[in-house]
Amino acid sequence: MGPVCGPCYRAALSTPTQCASCGRQRVLVGRAAGGGLLCRTCVFPGEPPERCGACGEPADLLPGRRCPRCTLAARVTDLLSVDGAGVPEPLQPLAAVLTGADNPYRVLEWMRRSPAARLLRHLALQPDALDHQALDALPHRAVTAYVRGLLVTAGILPPRDENLALLTNWAARTMTALPPQHAALIRPFAEWHIIRDARRRSARGRYTYVAHKGDCGNIRAAIDFLNWLDSHRLSLAALEQRHLDTWATGRPSLRARSIPFIRWATARRLTATGLLIEHPPAQLPGHFQVEAVHHEELRRCLNDTVLPLDVRVTGALVRLYALPLTRIVELTADQLHRNEDHTYLTINRHPVLLPPKLAHLIDDQLRHSTPRHSGPHEHRYLLPGHIPGRPRNPAGLADTMRRHGLPARAARNTAVMEALVDLPPMVISDLFGIQPKTAERWATLAAGSWADFLAVREGNQG
Ligand SMILES: [Zn+2]
Ligand SMILES: [Zn+2]
Ligand SMILES: [Zn+2]
Repeated sequence: MGPVCGPCYRAALSTPTQCASCGRQRVLVGRAAGGGLLCRTCVFPGEPPERCGACGEPADLLPGRRCPRCTLAARVTDLLSVDGAGVPEPLQPLAAVLTGADNPYRVLEWMRRSPAARLLRHLALQPDALDHQALDALPHRAVTAYVRGLLVTAGILPPRDENLALLTNWAARTMTALPPQHAALIRPFAEWHIIRDARRRSARGRYTYVAHKGDCGNIRAAIDFLNWLDSHRLSLAALEQRHLDTWATGRPSLRARSIPFIRWATARRLTATGLLIEHPPAQLPGHFQVEAVHHEELRRCLNDTVLPLDVRVTGALVRLYALPLTRIVELTADQLHRNEDHTYLTINRHPVLLPPKLAHLIDDQLRHSTPRHSGPHEHRYLLPGHIPGRPRNPAGLADTMRRHGLPARAARNTAVMEALVDLPPMVISDLFGIQPKTAERWATLAAGSWADFLAVREGNQG
């Protein structure tokens, strides 16, 4: 079959491809004298071909003596119809997405194994009751998210901002668990302050997974603060600056998170005026790598074929361009541009040149990560997630990177430092999505040599 890599070879055995002789989409099992790949029928022209019992075409028959595509059509009809009466009207676009897949083998396999397919079967009993709220009410969030992605891909449900939905659903669940006197404060804070601001950012397309985590953290810190008041027999009205100082010193990790609630409460005169918690003093980034380690890891990403492709691509993007994982998961195929000699990746409207090795890895990654189901107009993610139409979860990706010994944060800080030597802080802050102030502070650090910087840090730690 010629030189192909391991994943390509295994995929070929269940990937129909166009036969060089008859032109049918078949599993190709032989090679013609001229070099093209051939299907079974064309390799053994003397034998009568096996034909599909439904469409009559020569085919690689599955149990039931039908071709893969006719088998898939029958299974999808079974899955989505009540008593085999045919797919109900509202679900027909979904049937089209499932049966229209490039590779029927993959969808058949998915229907056999996936709990999402079983959930679809259940939901198909009441197709008119399908909407986002109905899905939000279901348990098994991962499976439900998969089905939601499929229904959005099919155009049966409208797309929505899933990060915003994570926040609003989490807030609603959290609110019902609060005692009434806390809910009376937390509910307006969450709905009219945090969630309203999140909606504004979402409308501009800027509400990220990390932003949703931060907003949940702000609400949780507010709840924690009210519990602390209760345990000290205090109330917002009786709160004094010295109480607040005690709280802030005792809870360093919650200190910054509790600021939005205390500001909000103070602005609404629920507390005495003039109370404040200072933001903790800005920290210089504490996690850096020694240059040699940084370069060794970059070399691994570009050359180590034992590492999974997605890990190599992610690791290289972090180390070369200081991209955070939250940005890497949002990268799509249409951000790549090629001319005769070079491949460019557009980051924040700036096209950056990719080293040929990385460009090759990215091509391979796109080839090996075709989504199982895809709609006509959706973004093709560089790192497609498990859920149709969604990118990978950055938290899960961070775990994967750590497991392979390529943690992202220190590497990213180091990559920013290296770039700072050549680029002005404003460009850095735009390119890497960090605050201009942070970029300036780092630029000051980078102006000295690495050795000086590391020496100062080690001295401080000793
Ligand atoms: Zn390959
Ligand atoms: Zn053929
Ligand atoms: Zn057929």
